[in-house]
Amino acid sequence: MTTPATPEQPADVVARLRATFRTGRTKPVAWRTEQLRRLRELLTERGADLADALHTDLGKSSAEAYRTEIDFTVREIDHTLDHLDGWLRPESAPVPAHLGADATAWTQVDPLGVVLVIAPWNYPAQLLLAPLVGALAAGNAVVVKPSELAPATSAALARLLPAYLDTDAVAVVEGGIPETTALLAERFDHIFYTGNGTVGRVVLRAAAEHLTPVTLELGGKSPAFVDRDADLSVIADRLARGKFLNAGQTCVAPDYVLTDPETAAALEPLLARAVETLYGSDPQASDAYGRIINERHFDRLAALLDSGRIVVGGGKDRTDKYLAPTVLADVDPGSPVMREEIFGPILPIVTVEGLDEAIAFINDRDKPLALYVFTESGETRSRIAAETSSGGLGYGLPLAHLTVSDLPFGGVGESGMGSYHGRWSIETFSHRKAVLDKPLH
Ligand code: NAD
Repeated sequence: MTTPATPEQPADVVARLRATFRTGRTKPVAWRTEQLRRLRELLTERGADLADALHTDLGKSSAEAYRTEIDFTVREIDHTLDHLDGWLRPESAPVPAHLGADATAWTQVDPLGVVLVIAPWNYPAQLLLAPLVGALAAGNAVVVKPSELAPATSAALARLLPAYLDTDAVAVVEGGIPETTALLAERFDHIFYTGNGTVGRVVLRAAAEHLTPVTLELGGKSPAFVDRDADLSVIADRLARGKFLNAGQTCVAPDYVLTDPETAAALEPLLARAVETLYGSDPQASDAYGRIINERHFDRLAALLDSGRIVVGGGKDRTDKYLAPTVLADVDPGSPVMREEIFGPILPIVTVEGLDEAIAFINDRDKPLALYVFTESGETRSRIAAETSSGGLGYGLPLAHLTVSDLPFGGVGESGMGSYHGRWSIETFSHRKAVLDKPLH
């Protein structure tokens, strides 16, 4: 079937994909792996188109676009192709004695049907394509909705995906609130949403109408606890890399540093040095440093710079949507920068007296998407693991847990529900059907 000349209405898109799903076309493993291979080809043949679009939308360097979006997705595809047969294999279950010795039981992994993936603007390719990999691998038809706030990437995806994938089973719907609202009125078999919690609630309410299961990949403030005994120059370097990647617009970026006053004082010059090592004395001139997505977010972030004493950074240029990598010290826990997810290149340092106060500080707030702990103490590690709740926990290195394909990536509480990546995506986009077999004679 050829792509229609006029944009299809959301209801028609979903009806068309549902008709395809009903034929059984997306179910064979051969169809799934073919789609994954075609997506891989898109990324290797047309990766430069996506990298250009990411540069236009977010000032991402080509190296960063490949590392965090294009090659990231290629790795996810390769991992899935390597393991898919095993993940889809039926799993037998022990049968209780009252059913007799000849009865057997197992789970069968079924696709759900037609699923919707709604992506945000900060990693606008990766956060649309990685869920798409899982949804296709699980044998579904998929509608993907890129973020309108990253328009160049949205246009590139809308152009490229239909050129490589089965257009009877994969559709790209571009647009903002009206288009997404229209999509959400349709019945899907799963909705996978990445973005903020306010819209997450809109998605959940719309899904409730159809009893559609939902994955919400949300954000929030991810703390980084730094213990007094640890190697602060290594920590400063890793914190700066994790925080200022993509100009701080990363859902799992360390949002703020939590440490004692002496360690904070020692960390300040080391963070300033780490920023200079990464981006030079003028980060605005560095190809490696990105830009804020739009003026609205720039203005929001610029207003947060008054929340503390500037250790490094503070520079800004609205016409260039440039906000310097900034570290703030002496930050009051009640100040504006601590009241919302920062989602930009500002790293506040908040002081607490010790581990007990740090744990209480974390537990007094929403459950974070990620929690980072920098310590040499086994007791500190185990106490934080046991006494706090977060989507993920990273000892010693921010962001990296989400690159481990066999770990579930997702939040808890305000930071989201459900997870994906690798086999966890198969769990998300499939139904495990319980099967019992009792022979008739
Ligand atoms: P966004 O503004 O691009 O919105 C996300 C999607 O929701 C877009 O596709 C948009 O069109 C749609 N949308 C917006 N308003 C809507 C409405 N009223 N009804 C229906 N759909 C609507 O992105 P954002 O929300 O600004 O993204 C940033 C947030 O996402 C941060 O909180 C960040 O932490 C979080 N995030 C989480 C992850 C994760 O994997 N957990 C990853 C990236 C970002």
